Amino acid sequence: MSKSKIPQEMFQHVVNNALDFLGQSIIEIKEKPKYSVIHFHASIELILKARLMAEHWSLVVSPKKQADWQEFTQGKFVSVTLEEASTRLEKVAQSGLGDKALKSFRTVTKHRNQMVHFYHNAETEKAGIQRLQAIVKEQLTAWYFLHDLMLGQWKETFESWEKNISEIDAKLREHHEFLKVVYEELKPSIKDMVVSGYVFLECPSCGFMSEKHLNDQNCLYESECLVCGLHEQCLKIQCSECEEGEVLYRGEPSAKCSMCGAVHNGSHLLETFIDDGEAYMAIKDGGDYPFPLNCGECMGYETVVQISESEYLCTQCFAVSDTYGMCGWCNDESTSLSEDTYWKGCEFCDGRAGWDKD
Ligand SMILES: [Zn+2]
Ligand SMILES: [Zn+2]
Ligand SMILES: [Zn+2]
Ligand SMILES: [Zn+2]
Repeated sequence: MSKSKIPQEMFQHVVNNALDFLGQSIIEIKEKPKYSVIHFHASIELILKARLMAEHWSLVVSPKKQADWQEFTQGKFVSVTLEEASTRLEKVAQSGLGDKALKSFRTVTKHRNQMVHFYHNAETEKAGIQRLQAIVKEQLTAWYFLHDLMLGQWKETFESWEKNISEIDAKLREHHEFLKVVYEELKPSIKDMVVSGYVFLECPSCGFMSEKHLNDQNCLYESECLVCGLHEQCLKIQCSECEEGEVLYRGEPSAKCSMCGAVHNGSHLLETFIDDGEAYMAIKDGGDYPFPLNCGECMGYETVVQISESEYLCTQCFAVSDTYGMCGWCNDESTSLSEDTYWKGCEFCDGRAGWDKD
């Protein structure tokens, strides 16, 4: 990282601005929803830019323009769009947003543009309340991902603002009250769903007991919050410590047992499925059991297990794949293989092309 090259002051200025806009957006939501959306959107863009700046200042300049230090320091430059920032975070900074975060940021951008061009105040009270609820949902979801990036994956960059970030988090969660109506309306149907076997847990984004889960162990499913719409890839296994409690993985390979609190990571997940799978194979035909496979997403070595007939989960990055294959050159099995692996190789070898070069 060439952080020393960018004036620390400019970087701090961008982050402070972003948090300022976020604060504004929270205050404005009820009285001035239009400005709330605009400010919220601006703060997402600034946070992404700040993360890019921490890598190198020129990454903030639009790819369509030549980056110029003089112009940059004077603020006379065209900056990256959300899509461009996302691509650079992934390709250059090697710290991408992830599909779900990007999708939720895109929603905010889309509505920001609609608000700027079409919003008018003369709407019925009912329409106004519905619009408010929709905005709160979007902001809570986008914030859930943004907050997670800033305090997790991008911790190093935003460490000094940890306290401010947590304060904003608390304030934004007070918006809870706007969604309470939605939750109240859902209560009867949630009750029915519990009777038919679903489990409802507290949603990590909006905080209501409205996150719908399956009651099954060892199967992969997508949870859905009926209030705010948050989706997560989930998987439950039995706790290997107390052998009674349940461990619920939510989109990442780390989770706690509901009974004894033991922390389980990806290797617990790996063990669970490899043991079951091998036992099953031994009964079936005693054939060769190829798992764990390598992961083509995160380049994990022997991290992918089979969850069902056509679901392969990486216990390191939690990516799910519906196929896997064998590299034509090194014969290793892996997910996300490209075409013509004999020639091009896989994530773990250079294929025939690499061999010929030597
Ligand atoms: Zn929720
Ligand atoms: Zn336990
Ligand atoms: Zn992986
Ligand atoms: Zn290979």
